[in-house]
Amino acid sequence: MTTVLNVLRDLHRIHQQLADIQGRLDRCPKLLHASQAKVKQAETALSDKKGVIQQLHLAAKEQELVLEERAAKITDRQARLKECASNKEYQTLKDEIQSEEQANSDLSDQILLAYEAIDQQQEQAAELETKLIESQQELETTTTQVTEREASLKVDLERIQSDLSSSEKELPSEFVGEYKRITSARGEEAFGEVANNCCGNCYQQITAQMMNDVLTGKLTVCGSCGAILYPGE
Ligand SMILES: [Zn+2]
Repeated sequence: MTTVLNVLRDLHRIHQQLADIQGRLDRCPKLLHASQAKVKQAETALSDKKGVIQQLHLAAKEQELVLEERAAKITDRQARLKECASNKEYQTLKDEIQSEEQANSDLSDQILLAYEAIDQQQEQAAELETKLIESQQELETTTTQVTEREASLKVDLERIQSDLSSSEKELPSEFVGEYKRITSARGEEAFGEVANNCCGNCYQQITAQMMNDVLTGKLTVCGSCGAILYPGE
C-alpha cells in the first residue's frame, strides 16, 4: 500500500517536471521569434529612413535644377541688356533680372535648409543602422543560447521520461488503465495530493470514505476534477 502511494507521489512529481521542461522547451522558439522580429523591425525602420532621405535628395536636386535654369536665364537677360533698343525695354529686363535674382536667392536658402534636413535624417539613419547591428548581434547570441538550452532541456527530458517509465512499471495493474487515460488527457493535472481532506488539484473537499480509500491505496479519483488522489506526506 505504502508503495502504491509512493509511486503515485513520484509519478505526480515526474509529470510536474515533464510539464516544466516542456514549458521551457516551448518558450525557446518564442524567444528566437521575438529576437528575429526585433531585427525585422530594425531593418524596416532603416529602409524607411533611407527612403525618406532619397526623396529629400531628389527634391533638393530638382530645386538645384531650377536654380541653374534660372541662373542661365539671368545670364541670357544680362547679355540682352547691351542690345536694348529702348530705355523701357532695358528697364523691363532689369526688373526681370532683379526679381529672378531674388527668387534664386530664396531658393538657395531653401536648398541649404533641405541639405541640413538631409544631414539630420542621415544622423538618424546612422543611429538606426547601429540599432540594426545590435539587434543582429542579439539575435546571434539568442540563437546560440536557445540552441544550447534546447539541447540541455532535451537531455533532461529524456532522463525524466526514463524516470517516468521506471515509475510507471511499479504501478499496480488495476491503476494502469485509468492512469494512462487521465495522464494522457491532463498531464501534471492528472494528480491531486490530498491535504486537509481537499484535492490538491481543484481544492474541493473529499468524503471521509474517499479519504479512507486514498489511505488504503485504492484507486480513487476526485469527484470534482477527476484527478487521481494520493495522500500528502
Ligand atoms: Zn479535484
